[in-house]
Amino acid sequence: MIDIQHNINATHQRIKQASVQQGVEPPILLAISKTRPASDIVVAFEAGVRHFGENYLQEALEKIAALEGYPIEWHFTGPIQSNKTRAVAENFSWIHTLDRNKIARRLNEQRPEKLGKLKVCLQVNVDREESKSGLLPERVAELAEEVSLLPNLELKGLMAIPQAGAKDAPRKKSFQTLARMLAELKKIHPQMDVLSMGMSGDLELAIAEGATIVRVGTAVFGQRIKKP
Ligand SMILES: *Cc1c(COP(=O)(O)O)cnc(C)c1O
Repeated sequence: MIDIQHNINATHQRIKQASVQQGVEPPILLAISKTRPASDIVVAFEAGVRHFGENYLQEALEKIAALEGYPIEWHFTGPIQSNKTRAVAENFSWIHTLDRNKIARRLNEQRPEKLGKLKVCLQVNVDREESKSGLLPERVAELAEEVSLLPNLELKGLMAIPQAGAKDAPRKKSFQTLARMLAELKKIHPQMDVLSMGMSGDLELAIAEGATIVRVGTAVFGQRIKKP
């Protein structure tokens, strides 16, 4: 049995310790609940988590419907294609994976006014990996400018997933690169203050470089349930 409540307490403890050590505000814990049932989300909610991230749209919509009435902030953290924009615009508070102007324009058009602005992080392919989603660093300023002009989107910050399997030193460098990019963008877009970086294995490293949202899956819910 996975003890989700215990895992959340332990994760909050890790976040707190790293934040105190660095003398920074603790980041938000975004629990990545992909492949986990709604009942696991309820346990995490009762342990104090309010932000949940989902990668697979169909699965997410079922859980969002099942948990209607819970004051949860839903974050979309998966790859986004044109045919998914409407459901994301209508059901989520945040998207962390925006990397194309066409998708931005669709989200802006499809966002219901009564929900307020959709909060957006631009995903950056910070390690310049082939076949990885996200913008190359030199393309980020342009998309930030375009998103900032769309009235139903709120440009919040940057998100990155460092290269899988990378050691601490290159990982730290990737987080530093993202933090430096945000600092640059802030000169033009002062409202940008979110760095979505750090996962189960490296959240301390990310906090040391200024993470304001850490996205944690397995450390909270245990190993993911395999998709068929
Ligand atoms: C699955 C996922 C995570 C969580 O990863 P863990 O290593 O399980 O903590 C974080 N961010 C994104 C975008 C993910 O898809």
